[in-house]
Amino acid sequence: MIGRVASIFPVIHNTQSAHEVLDALGVCGKKVYKSCPKSCPVCQSKVFSTLELIGVCSTPVFWECDDCGALHCRRDRQWIENRIDRLENLWTNPNDWEEPESKNQLN
Ligand SMILES: [Zn+2]
Repeated sequence: MIGRVASIFPVIHNTQSAHEVLDALGVCGKKVYKSCPKSCPVCQSKVFSTLELIGVCSTPVFWECDDCGALHCRRDRQWIENRIDRLENLWTNPNDWEEPESKNQLN
């Protein structure tokens, strides 16, 4: 099975909420598949890759159908959305980031 890695930063930029991010990625429903689905509920394909999202989790969070591209959750959808929400806060307010250099100058 192929393991793919994707960045969701471009998607986050164009969406309002983590829920929308998952919809934009093509996540299919809320059902959690702890092991690879036998066949894709959308197109019945039996060929899947795993998909890891950079910054969200260090292990893949989705099974991706190789034929139609539908994503099926490996973890609870709400858990994934919470992780994306945290990422989004970091991403949308880069001006709020602390700068370690200025701290060092004080010492
Ligand atoms: Zn499919």
